[in-house]
Amino acid sequence: MSESCCSPQSKSTQSQKTETESCCELHPPQVCGPTKCPQCQGLGKTVKRITLGSLIKPEKRSFIPSYDEFCFCRNPQCDVVYFRPEKIIFRKNDLSVRVGIKEPNDPMAPVCYCFDWTPHKIRSQIKTIGNTTALDEIKAQVKAGNCYCEITNPQGSCCLGNVNKIITEVTAKEVV
Ligand SMILES: [Zn+2]
Repeated sequence: MSESCCSPQSKSTQSQKTETESCCELHPPQVCGPTKCPQCQGLGKTVKRITLGSLIKPEKRSFIPSYDEFCFCRNPQCDVVYFRPEKIIFRKNDLSVRVGIKEPNDPMAPVCYCFDWTPHKIRSQIKTIGNTTALDEIKAQVKAGNCYCEITNPQGSCCLGNVNKIITEVTAKEVV
């Protein structure tokens, strides 16, 4: 799996590269150093404190430790969401939103949090019109300055890599 959410994973549309880059300049993904998830040993991605402040359930917010940065566990099979070296801090149930990449079997779990795209919505479009407007619409909103990945997306960074991945998966399934 690519460590960068911003690397275009779909070859279906030539124009996706620039779209992806435009969002990622604002919200670059970062690998969380050598720190590994204490539960699954997967590598994490750096997330800023404000992401936790926005997405942890209000009753759990007072338990956010006083660090500026945390690691996000990207393993779909692991229920740990945020950790620090040697320490699990928050799991899926501690967030007020669902973590889309950790719900691979739920087509209603969000993939783009800023503009409400789910695998279900993308699949429906592809089924009915043969394509999806997800990337174009997200790109237009990013340009308009309406993209707030840090406070809407549990990953705290650009969703376009995840959106590309869903489109690739859905397209492959529809062809077969
Ligand atoms: Zn993990």
